[in-house]
Amino acid sequence: MTTTVVTNIGRLVTNDPALGDGSPLGIVEDAALVLDGERVVWAGSAAGAPDADVRVDAGGRAVIPGFVDSHSHLVFAGDRTAEFNARMSGQAYAAGGIRTTVAATRAASDADLERNLTRYLDEALRQGTTTFETKSGYGLTTHDEARALRIAAAHTDEVTYLGAHIVSPDFADDPAGYVALVTGEMLDACAPHARWVDVFCEKGAFDGDQARAILTAGMAKGLHPRVHANQLSYGPGVQLAVELDAASADHCTHLTDADVDALANGNTVATLLPGAEFSTRAEWPDARRLLDAGVTVALSTDCNPGSSFTSSVPFCIALAVRDMRMTPDEALWSATAGGAAALRRTDIGRLAPGAYADFALLDAPSHVHLAYRPGVPLVTEVWKRGSRMV
Ligand SMILES: [Zn+2]
Repeated sequence: MTTTVVTNIGRLVTNDPALGDGSPLGIVEDAALVLDGERVVWAGSAAGAPDADVRVDAGGRAVIPGFVDSHSHLVFAGDRTAEFNARMSGQAYAAGGIRTTVAATRAASDADLERNLTRYLDEALRQGTTTFETKSGYGLTTHDEARALRIAAAHTDEVTYLGAHIVSPDFADDPAGYVALVTGEMLDACAPHARWVDVFCEKGAFDGDQARAILTAGMAKGLHPRVHANQLSYGPGVQLAVELDAASADHCTHLTDADVDALANGNTVATLLPGAEFSTRAEWPDARRLLDAGVTVALSTDCNPGSSFTSSVPFCIALAVRDMRMTPDEALWSATAGGAAALRRTDIGRLAPGAYADFALLDAPSHVHLAYRPGVPLVTEVWKRGSRMV
């Protein structure tokens, strides 16, 4: 295996407190990183770096772990520009946007869905994302949900079955019949292609009892739960997620004190998705309240064609710092190590011996510039599994 030393790193974020300055980000100044094949084998001060076969000069730039985007919806077809334009032009939002995407996705060929998915993955990679989770949820038939998961699984290990995104329009008068399908035949067809099971637990989607039935059925088939919880209103989603040991409760915009206590005392990560609040002009989730309570927070894009059509983690970091009262350090941690925690992974989201060599070089002296210089394409180089991709 070829070894590579990336040296002359102005400021390295390792996310390993033992390696750096003792902070959660484990920052090392004037640093180097040594890779052996796909993995990091050494990280520390450049002066002490061991020899390697290949030497790469980072030119004093900052190096951060690749972003772990633990929540996206990228298997879809169609376009909802008109809906966004109407919403931003002050017209009343007509519900049912997801149904527009469902119709377009069902009508699309496998090749069209694949092309669309890889387009957004390439876009995300160029902005520093080296791991992403993605979901089904725009098919809502056994055939179309299984197809979406099969296509996603060709590109990532982090695939989530979301047959319970909304009640299929085909079952508008029979939601119980749709839950039976999602927990029965559809689950049987989808489970082999997925790692996770998810449900949109919300008024107008699935209530607490339905969500529990859907998640426990998935768990019985070997899938691990994650939950779209408390996005648009208060509800049972967060506490159900903690009770079932879900890896993540996603959105967490409307939380009671009991919800925050449950997250603080459980193993479920709170994944915040500020692109959704930005794109719908909604109230921000209160990241400060969660962090001060000791909750593990992840930050992700929720990239989807309706409510958050951004693949940019740096954009979400800037929103989190400006509008959700996260510090620049907290926002970066949440978008890397936090995302890894939301996927129950320890081999990504950090740059320490044993982890995958997934990282980004920033055309900046430090990661703080991700929030300080919003909208500027600072990611100049991306490495994934020890190979330079961008
Ligand atoms: Zn989502």
